[in-house]
Amino acid sequence: MDPDDTAVALLHQLAGQVAGCTRCRLAAGRTNVVFGTGDPKANLMFIGEGPGEQEDLQGLPFVGRSGQLLDRLMLEEIGITRSHCYIANMTKCRPPGNRDPMPDEISACRPYLESQLDLIAPKVVVTLGRFASQALLDSTEGITRLRGRVYPYRSGYLVPTFHPSAALRGGGTVVAQMRSDFVRAKEVLLSPARTTAKGAGQHRVSGADSSHA
Ligand code: SF4
Repeated sequence: MDPDDTAVALLHQLAGQVAGCTRCRLAAGRTNVVFGTGDPKANLMFIGEGPGEQEDLQGLPFVGRSGQLLDRLMLEEIGITRSHCYIANMTKCRPPGNRDPMPDEISACRPYLESQLDLIAPKVVVTLGRFASQALLDSTEGITRLRGRVYPYRSGYLVPTFHPSAALRGGGTVVAQMRSDFVRAKEVLLSPARTTAKGAGQHRVSGADSSHA
């Protein structure tokens, strides 16, 4: 079997395993586990913090107003739709009342995210918001200080930006900063790969031109 096909099969198997997870207290209040969605061979992966109400009901990440903004910025600044990337969260179950996920919940769920990163092996990870950015960069800096830069991450790169819900609350300035972060992610996506783990040309992002490369 092609190694990529094996990874896709293992990702599917992992989703089945996570569907029954009771590792942390968030299992008690969930309607659905929100494992992730998109292209399991994507070069670009977005990681948010945790499912909200609509995500919990539908079992899909970023399907509410935040998701609409994410879709719009993705299309307008990177030139792709969500079927050309992969979207997941730090926690796969909804924190009650949309509270922030607690450190022990993030830790309990972290191995699933690490397995997703292993199997998808994206060249570029865009972290959406403070929780995902701090956790993946192992930093205590706020998102305002973390964003605006590209970080080496695994065999590729990490581009931190705001969570779309912060942009909905914060208005034009935050949206403009998110746009510039998405352009940064596109530039890195089109740049030479850091390692041979997954070359830039192997999994092209459909719809992205090379004008920023
Ligand atoms: S949040 Fe993660 S660790 Fe906690 S129950 Fe859900 S899938 Fe399991």
